[in-house]
Formats: sequence, C-alpha cells, structure tokens
Amino acid sequence: MPLYTSQPLKIYNSLSGEKEDFKPIHEGNVGMYVCGPTVYSNVHLGNVRTFMSFDVIFRYFLHLDYKVRYVRNITDVGHIVDDVDEGEDKIAKKARLEQLEPMEVVQRYTVDFHDILKAFNFLPPSIEPTATGHIIEQIEIIKKIIDKGIGYVANGSVYFDVVKYNETNNYGILSGRNIEDMLANTRDLDGQSDKRNPQDFALWKKAEPEHIMRWPSPWSDGFPGWHLECTAMSTKYLGNHFDIHGGGMDLKFPHHECEIAQNEACTGQSPVNYWMHANMLTLNGKKMAKSTGNNILPGEILSGDNNILSKPFSASVTRFFMLQAHYRSILDFSDDAIVAAEKGYKRLMEAVETLPSITAGNTSSIDFGAWKQLCYDAMNDDFNTPILIAQLFEAVRYINLLKDGKETISTEDLASFTAAVNAFVFNVLGLSDEKNADEDDKLEGVVNMLIGMRNQARADKNFALSDQIRDQLIALGIQLKDGKEGTTFSIQ
Ligand code: AMP
Ligand code: ZN
Repeated sequence: MPLYTSQPLKIYNSLSGEKEDFKPIHEGNVGMYVCGPTVYSNVHLGNVRTFMSFDVIFRYFLHLDYKVRYVRNITDVGHIVDDVDEGEDKIAKKARLEQLEPMEVVQRYTVDFHDILKAFNFLPPSIEPTATGHIIEQIEIIKKIIDKGIGYVANGSVYFDVVKYNETNNYGILSGRNIEDMLANTRDLDGQSDKRNPQDFALWKKAEPEHIMRWPSPWSDGFPGWHLECTAMSTKYLGNHFDIHGGGMDLKFPHHECEIAQNEACTGQSPVNYWMHANMLTLNGKKMAKSTGNNILPGEILSGDNNILSKPFSASVTRFFMLQAHYRSILDFSDDAIVAAEKGYKRLMEAVETLPSITAGNTSSIDFGAWKQLCYDAMNDDFNTPILIAQLFEAVRYINLLKDGKETISTEDLASFTAAVNAFVFNVLGLSDEKNADEDDKLEGVVNMLIGMRNQARADKNFALSDQIRDQLIALGIQLKDGKEGTTFSIQ
C-alpha cells in the first residue's frame, strides 16, 4: 500500500484561510506549480527560502509515495520593474544597463540559479518551462479572454478588464481585497495609460521600437504580461484544474489574484484546489529584496564573505536554519540564529552517525512506533518542519540512551527506527552529512601535499624519500599513478 493511504495530510489553503484535508484530483498523483525566479539578477537567500519550502513539500509528497508532477517556471520576459504595467521589463532593463543581449542576462542568472539550488541540495522539478518558450500558448489565451469580452485592445496592447470580470466573478477572492476599495484608493489614470481602469492589468504589451524582446501577435509586435505566463505554463502541463499552486506570500496579490481571474475568464473554472504561500525571510526585520539591497546572497553564506556573518556556514546548516521555522512564519536572519542552528545541526548529525554502531537487544521501554508516527503527524499538519525537527531531537536522546547502554532496542525496532531517522533527515528535510564530505576533502588535501613532497624529493634526486612516500601510501591503500598530466591517486 502506498504510504499516503495511511498518512492523511492537511494543507493550509490560502484561498479558504483554513487547513484542509488534502485530496488530489487524481488519486495517488499530485500536480504542483510554483512560480520560479525572474532571472535578471542573482537569487538572494530570501528567494532560496521560498524555493526550499516547496522543495521540502515536494520531497514529502514523494516520501508519501505520491507521483508528483512539479512544474517550476523561469520568468525570462514580461516581469515589469515594480510589478506594474507602465515601465521597463526587468530583464530588458538589466540588458540595457550591462550592454548585454537580454538572453545573455537570462542565461547567466538561470545558470546561477541552478548552481545555487544544486549546492543547497534541491531536487530538480519535473518540468522547468520558460516564459519565452510559451509565447504561442499565451497568445491563444489572450484570444480567448478577448472573445469572452473581458480583454480589450488599446493601442496595440491588450488589457484585462477587471471591472467587467468582477460583474460575474470575484476579483479579490484570494487576497481578500475588495475591488470598490481598490478603485476608490487609486488615483485616476493620468491620461498616459491605455487602460480603462487603474486595476486592469496587461495581457500583452506593445513593444517600443528599441525593445529587443518582441514577438509578433495579432495586436502588435510585443511581449506577454507576467501574470499570463504562469497561467499558460501551469495549465499546459497540469491541466485547467490542478492540485497545488505555490509561491512567496508577496505573489498573492496581484500575481496570483490575476492568475485566478485569467483562468476563470478563459475556462469558467477556478484553476487550483490548494493555494500555498511561503512566508518571507527578513534581515534586520525587513524583507530581503533584490531592489533594496537588504539581502544576503547564498554564495556569501557559503564563503562567509559578508559583514553580517562571523564565519562561513554550510549549505546543510543553512537548510537546517530555515527549516527550523514553519514555512508560513516570517523568519529573521541573523548571525546568532544561524550559529545556534549550526550547533543543533551538528548535534543531530553526530547522533545519526552513531546509529549504525548501535546493536539490537531486548525489547525497549521506548515506544519507537509512537515516535515515528509523531514525525508523520508533524509533517501531515501542513508540513510542520519545526515540530519534525523537535521529534528528531527526541530521537537524538534515544540514540544517546542506546549508545550509553541505558536503553535497549529490538532488532525489528532498530531497523524501523534507523530507516525513519534517515528518511526524515536526508530524504524529507534534504540535509546531508557534511562531515564525511569534509573528511574526504581533507584526505585529498593531505595526499596532494605528499605528492608535492615526493615530486620535490625526485627533483632533488632523493629517491629514497620519494620511494618511501609512495610505498607507505600503498601500505595505507592509496595508490599513486604517474602520468603525463602529473601524479594522481586512487584509494583501494
Ligand atoms: P522573484 O524572482 O522576485 O520573482 O522571486 C522569486 C520567489 O522568491 C517568489 O516566490 C517570491 O515570492 C520569493 N521571495 C522574494 N523575496 C523573498 C523573501 N525575502 N523571503 C522569501 N521569499 C521571497
Ligand atoms: Zn507566477
């Protein structure tokens, strides 16, 4: 039996404001779309937090034996500076400032994004579509919205008529905003805009003559709106109605609100069953953001190269730091907090490393089955990683009792306990045991140092010493091989 049949999951749905039982549309399958990065600069640690929240959610679904199609896009066109419609495309602006082709900007920061996610042990999504690769799909959706009388063309651009839409639907259903209030609180259009109402948003923008990122369409040579690309890519790969749509809390309005409106206008149905929003990482109490400079880059954490940091921190320590907070809580970054997380991570890993040395014996007074279920209960309660981590520290206490001979464990319990600890630590939380990797690096450094000394001895014609180094390494199971490119080694 797949694990999900015995582990019922609850998810907090931003649309209803409640925790709901998770029921996928197709039994055993999960379709999940998460808004990806706008690739015009390096991702900061705040972005990493949101993607990590969904990485753990993805990992837990897989652990429960669901078949998951996880789609996370790359926004490589259409995201306008300040998230408004009148202004410059973020990627086009960066390209102009740096005198690069827009696609050079996209390539550079897509590679950076992938490198960072790999360094932080993220699982790759099932599909990673780009907005520029789905222009035709976006044009088709715009045509449908115009046909329904909810999109209008003005001066080569196409806008979504929010007021018209709201006559039969509820614009504000996700964010809880009220359109009358919104209209009352926004200034009248200054006559510069082609929009009928300030709340209307662009589906297609006519490109200025100097704009390179442009595609032909029935309305003008131009480019698609930001909200539209996610509608096109999510429905193309997951269908008009799918299970989960996620992103950072700051995307709820207008981005996700507009996505719902586009889908409803187009297909007459709400696209998503569960809307999930991850909360922000802050620095000095303020949201980390690219635009304000109030941020830390993931590379700076790994190198320690930022005045805020007292030293470097590993990727797993950073993961552990982030997952000690629930994904819906705000998390403030500080050096003290990550130093504390490092201590916790090391304590956990030390215990996990001693697990293989524990031997089974008599039945225990500890109820390992109940402990395991508490781990599941934590994750089944809207992916509560801090409670799961608290349970893992309970496991650390058990391991220490077993190690000190103060408790015993049956063969069956030991196998199940070991499997559960490993599954939650490595598969679900995505932590790695960096001590082993660290030791490998050190060994490589020492052997390379000896190779250097042997080369020097040979250059000095001190063959007795060079042979001694080689032979003693062989005795330790380390074989040197002299080749054209220099000396390499292998460990037997
Ligand atoms: P962007 O590249 O700006 O579209 O952002 C990519 C993702 O990172 C979105 O889901 C944002 O909501 C999220 N994000 C941006 N800033 C933060 C932050 N300070 N903390 C957590 N997530 C963030
Ligand atoms: Zn999106």
